[in-house]
Amino acid sequence: MAQFRFKALEEMLNRKPDEIVREENLVSDYFGMLVFDKTKMKKYLSREAYKAVIDAIENGTTIDRKMADQVAQGMKAWALENGATHYTHWFHPLTDGTAEKHDAFIVHGADGGVIESFSGNLLAQQEPDASSFPNGGIRQTFEARGYTAWDPTSPAFISETTLTIPTIFISYTGEALDYKTPLLRALQAVSKAATEVCQYFDKNVTSVQTNLGWEQEYFLIDEALFMARPDLLLTGRTLMGHASSKDQQLADHYFSSIPTRANRFMQDVENEAYKLGIPVKIRHNEVAPNQFEFAPIYEEANLANDHNQLMMDIMQKIARKHKFRILFHEKPFSGINGSGKHNNWSLTTNTGVNVCKPGKNPKSNLQFLTFVINTIQAVYDGQDLLRASILTASNSYRLGANEAPPSILSVFLGTEVSNMLDHMEETVVDRKMTPDEKTALKLNIGRIPEIILDNTDRNRTSPFAFTGNRFEFRAVGSSANNASAIIVLNTLVANQLQKFKVAVDKLVEKGVKKDEAIFQVLKELIIKSKPIRFNGDGYSDNWVKEAKKRGLSNVNDVPEALEAYLRPESKKLFSKLGVLNESELRGRVEVEFEKFIMKIQIEARVLADMAINHIVPTAVEYQTMLLQNVKYLKDVFDAEEYESMAGGRLDLIREIGNHVSAIKAKRKEMTETRARANKIEDIHKRARVYNEEVRPFLDDIREHIDKLELIVDNEKWPLPKYRELLFAR
Ligand code: ADP
Ligand code: MG
Repeated sequence: MAQFRFKALEEMLNRKPDEIVREENLVSDYFGMLVFDKTKMKKYLSREAYKAVIDAIENGTTIDRKMADQVAQGMKAWALENGATHYTHWFHPLTDGTAEKHDAFIVHGADGGVIESFSGNLLAQQEPDASSFPNGGIRQTFEARGYTAWDPTSPAFISETTLTIPTIFISYTGEALDYKTPLLRALQAVSKAATEVCQYFDKNVTSVQTNLGWEQEYFLIDEALFMARPDLLLTGRTLMGHASSKDQQLADHYFSSIPTRANRFMQDVENEAYKLGIPVKIRHNEVAPNQFEFAPIYEEANLANDHNQLMMDIMQKIARKHKFRILFHEKPFSGINGSGKHNNWSLTTNTGVNVCKPGKNPKSNLQFLTFVINTIQAVYDGQDLLRASILTASNSYRLGANEAPPSILSVFLGTEVSNMLDHMEETVVDRKMTPDEKTALKLNIGRIPEIILDNTDRNRTSPFAFTGNRFEFRAVGSSANNASAIIVLNTLVANQLQKFKVAVDKLVEKGVKKDEAIFQVLKELIIKSKPIRFNGDGYSDNWVKEAKKRGLSNVNDVPEALEAYLRPESKKLFSKLGVLNESELRGRVEVEFEKFIMKIQIEARVLADMAINHIVPTAVEYQTMLLQNVKYLKDVFDAEEYESMAGGRLDLIREIGNHVSAIKAKRKEMTETRARANKIEDIHKRARVYNEEVRPFLDDIREHIDKLELIVDNEKWPLPKYRELLFAR
């Protein structure tokens, strides 16, 4: 039984760090060489086609058929020159990961041969046979058609030999079946609402861009060890495994020297990423052993998210080359750090001002405070929706556990900004302010330092932290599509900015001066949103109590969290902002419920299989050995000596017996519970039963298995142990 484990260990011990082939030039020389970016468009497109694409990117205009044909010709010429033989529409369905179907460029030629061809039609729209993608009931089978449509705001690129065109994925009736469609709408909603607010401060602002900088955490596991763990292979996490005596207690992995094999893997990934125009900047060891992180320079959010999905794909492919497997699961190992994907979020105007960063004078600082305060209010009002956007089966194992943000949403501001808000609250008065009062207030607002580096408290424990020039949404899971979080965050912020504008305009109509109106509304928001502000330790038990007193919600239950999407006010919010209509919203929530159930179901099946086929036979074999030993002892020794020698062994035999019986009984019960759950028609109720009744068996059964791991002869144990998975480099 244990053969597989030992062979894997041997294989791992014989590995040499892989040699890598890097591009020889400077990164700046080959960055984006596989991307059909502006420079290449200029070279391969006519002036009018180039202009049409730039217009579409910058102003959202549509590209007509004739222009699309021209763009397709240019793209094809460039792609063929760079070794492409195929093209694909690339999209983000509601599964984990991306989808692509490759078509060769060839069509029949005149003389019986073939020629390479690509038209505007094929660039603009395709109809993949998409009936197997989850849609939550939006697409009836009789109308199962789905369309992909070109997203010119994210440039096409060549992946191996395929020209890859980023697209949205919608149904025949135009409803979103993917992450990108509502993401683009939510980015647009913020642009519109933020522009109107920016106009109070600067009339030149005509659009506002959302920026996203993601930090991708992951584990690297040796391929041989990974393959010897069916749970890792099928669920992405260990469903069993006793803690290693040493793991992260000494904090000796974080930021330590990167192991050579891992480092080679990272260099290889970066090399590919640079060719694809992904500005990867940071690589380091994370807190848990064999846990690492990549982070790029932030970009426009839609592009950044495409790049994150592409990066995850590259990482998985290159890991194999280096005989590693990547774990993107949020909690692959119990008892140690899980993986997140911090979403660094900010807004910049077309005039180049980051409104999430303090400015140089009172006016730009007031704009900064306006955006900060409205964002806080948006998070406060939307705490349940934000949670719903990030809580999945896998992320629920991470949230609230070791060094992960809790399932209570709160906003960390740091002392500098907190003091500023407190001061505004104290000094703004409801009546007309005297010139002196106003000057004093403005002076104070002007005093926020341009660079706020709150080093005292780069508070790692906050799920939503202000970090000097951006907000950092830290509760996002490492395996997630960032769009899920950004769709909700942007919708909430857009809505709040709209409300803010209405309130300010109303006061102005009543004759209040604009700046005073802004002060007054901000003061009101500061007071209203106070409960969500928290600068303390988000991991402490006290915070849980305190948050409860403040009326903040605390939910780490996926089905319950998801219901927040379906409240009447949520439906109204998403449709009002034009991000998701009611049927789109309902559809994707159904998909989330479905995914949750499936993931627990798969885990339950894998655990049952491993318990019965791997663990129980091993335990019984060892127990038989012990029984034989006891029998021999009895044959050889007199009764008294036998008693003293065999006593402990008999206890051990009983202990093994008890664990084996418990595993078998609980396995049976778990299967029966699942069978009962599967009969429940209503998916919401079914998810509840999976959460409340099926899921606890996973922990129950695991506990017995982990105890057995401590008892059974190491030579017989079939699965690579935590110490091997975490410390094999
Ligand atoms: P941390 O100290 O939080 O671990 P990192 O340096 O690992 O930070 O990552 C920070 C991320 O935040 C990077 O992706 C970076 O590009 C991004 N970032 C920096 N400034 C902004 C900004 N104004 N808007 C959005 N993202 C930003
Ligand atoms: Mg960070």
